[in-house]
Amino acid sequence: MDTLMSELPLARFTVERAAQLRSNPEWFEQAWASDNTRVLVLHERNIPVTDELSIVWVKPWSLKMTPSQAKEAALLLGADSDHTYLAIMKDEVGLSDVNWASLRDVGSQLSATDVGLATAAVALTTWHDGHQFCPRCGQATAIAMAGWSRLCPQDEIEQYPRTEPAMIVAVEDLAGRILLGRRLEWPEGWLSTLAGFVEAGESCEAAVIREVFEESGIHVDLQSLKYMGSQPWPFPASLMLAYRAVATSTEVDMQDDEMTEVQWFTREALAAACTSETLKLPSPVSIAFRLIQSWYGEDIPIQWCRN
Ligand SMILES: [Zn+2]
Repeated sequence: MDTLMSELPLARFTVERAAQLRSNPEWFEQAWASDNTRVLVLHERNIPVTDELSIVWVKPWSLKMTPSQAKEAALLLGADSDHTYLAIMKDEVGLSDVNWASLRDVGSQLSATDVGLATAAVALTTWHDGHQFCPRCGQATAIAMAGWSRLCPQDEIEQYPRTEPAMIVAVEDLAGRILLGRRLEWPEGWLSTLAGFVEAGESCEAAVIREVFEESGIHVDLQSLKYMGSQPWPFPASLMLAYRAVATSTEVDMQDDEMTEVQWFTREALAAACTSETLKLPSPVSIAFRLIQSWYGEDIPIQWCRN
């Protein structure tokens, strides 16, 4: 794979998820009683970090909560030979003197171990928040499988965390220019590669062709599509699937109202616009940044990016 697309910030991990433990009825009691268990407390989906940007992991006994309270809020993130890692979806458990940071802001600076666990924790927590009721009968559901599903007590329907595939693409024309656009809700000067959700019954490649046309009026050659990698983006539930593609047309003609501007940039024009601060590129934590950098061909200065 293209080296500029490897080690995507939120795709990094070192700890295995230990899925075999999820169905063990004793998993929580064993983990909560162990001195080798490390707990990540989440506060409104933010994570506690030190000034040096590593996660503040705490021991179960240090938290102001009973085991039964903890069991209703505990997510099993994974385990390695030294530790079992949990997340707790509960505020006010006695964690003070920490900085609360969003994964989006600090994800690219966390270690691979921390970011892999934190990304799972943020994705799971967000899903639990939005899926408290059974989709069939409306009953309140209960946490199950160590936080990896929710169960309806009425009809035993089990729900699993949703991941929504979205494509993102660096479209180039035959002259080597890149196509960047600004979404309606973004401030002036914020541009990025085109992106959009894969629709029901659609392949990711078909979504690339469709979204690029809808957002820009540009036609993309299906045969030119090159898969570049993926990264979870749990804001709230996306999996970003990245491509590069070559356009067969160059005239911009936006078909929908998702974008306010779409433009072609040469490398020189991009550098000039970024240097004069009329253009801000996506944050280094995003796969969009890495796609643009992959097209640009060398490291992009961090000052060119929004943070
Ligand atoms: Zn139900």
